[in-house]
Amino acid sequence: MKANEVIDNLKRRFPNEPEYIQAVEEVLTTIEDVYNQHPEFEKSNLIERLCIPDRIFSFRVTWQDDKGAVHTNMGYRVQHNNAIGPYKGGIRFHSSVTPSILKFLAFEQTFKNSLTTLPMGGGKGGSDFNPKGKSNAEIMRFCQAFVMELWRYIGPETDVPAGDIGVGGREVSFMYGMYKKLARENTGTFTGKSLEMGGSLIRPEATGYGNVYFLLEMLKTKNIDIKGKVVAVSGSGNVAQYTVEKLIELGAKVVTMSDSNGYIYDPDGIDREKLDYIMELKNLYRGRIKEYAEKYGCKYVEGARPWGEKCDIAMPSATQNELNGEDAKTLLANGCIAVSEGANMPSTPEAINTFLAAKILYAPGKAANAGGVSTSGLEMTQNAMHLGWSAEEVDQKLKGIMKSIHEQCVKYGKQEDGTINYVKGANVAGFMKVAKAMMAQGIL
Ligand code: GLU
Repeated sequence: MKANEVIDNLKRRFPNEPEYIQAVEEVLTTIEDVYNQHPEFEKSNLIERLCIPDRIFSFRVTWQDDKGAVHTNMGYRVQHNNAIGPYKGGIRFHSSVTPSILKFLAFEQTFKNSLTTLPMGGGKGGSDFNPKGKSNAEIMRFCQAFVMELWRYIGPETDVPAGDIGVGGREVSFMYGMYKKLARENTGTFTGKSLEMGGSLIRPEATGYGNVYFLLEMLKTKNIDIKGKVVAVSGSGNVAQYTVEKLIELGAKVVTMSDSNGYIYDPDGIDREKLDYIMELKNLYRGRIKEYAEKYGCKYVEGARPWGEKCDIAMPSATQNELNGEDAKTLLANGCIAVSEGANMPSTPEAINTFLAAKILYAPGKAANAGGVSTSGLEMTQNAMHLGWSAEEVDQKLKGIMKSIHEQCVKYGKQEDGTINYVKGANVAGFMKVAKAMMAQGIL
């Protein structure tokens, strides 16, 4: 396999899908060597079968707003690869959702899920529906209309959706409620459900906590203590909130958070009380992060990201391509020693190369943010057993999984000079398991 040729071919076949091509390119350039050590892979054209999703469903979602106006949105589900388990991955509601975005996410998810040690394949879904400013009733009607189209293609052993940007416990519960009605079964086809209807303890916290657990593993390789470290976090949604919660608990100082309008810089650090305010502001009132700056009298920068602020550690937890090559250089110039990604593909290829060349501790999202989907896997297990584990049990299992993901990265990413290339480690480890399963099941 020549990575360049495969990528050029995909570009020709799928023009106008830049995010998908970006995600594929990052993986193929790092697995090329290992792939070519296995002539049987090439003989069965494993690479094309791995890069191109098994299938994509697309459908129109029609819904009515509170004033009675009728709207349409596009809905999609990308079933990327089920070699190691049922398709598994979140659903995103955001105006930027396109087939390219969902294909990149489903591709990444396949490798991420492989790393979790649990039997989950990769998928992703979503809609270009914009939940901002919508009433609870409008969200409910949209979720119900979305599932009316999707329900036939999903199931506990075929495809298990969950949340992502714009989809949290409220939306998953609305979708699962409608799903149960249509499918006449109650076996947990969605994860991230509310607790009372079969959700798992620690699932809301899992992506953020897991990212911090992964960061701790990375810091341990250099005997660095998290206590007192200054951390720049982007985003203020589910992932960012629980990243900050765990960082506060461990004695780190979080100085930034953001939303799509801008970021706040609080030199005193966001403490527990301030985080409670952010959680209420974002989860209950669905307000803007700017209000934090007004309340606590700190700096707010409109239309910018926090990477220009001095920090020891950066944890991008908002969205794809939110940290570019220039940002990466600024972070390094300001003394940043570690970057751990809570979002999916937040760093551009230029940023990734900058971090790798500087040999700082850099963890790509598919390793560092895998705690969310891992705990979804634990939710599936609890549902299948018709019982629920305690928060401590789930948290312990999550810690164990993040440790194991780190070990896999070290195994495949350790360089001759002793540093760890986590991008290579995560991609090769994730790839090998899926590749072996695909070979075992024959040409499909
Ligand atoms: N959307 C999350 C992710 O990117 C979670 C997926 C899931 O729990 O299935 O991994």
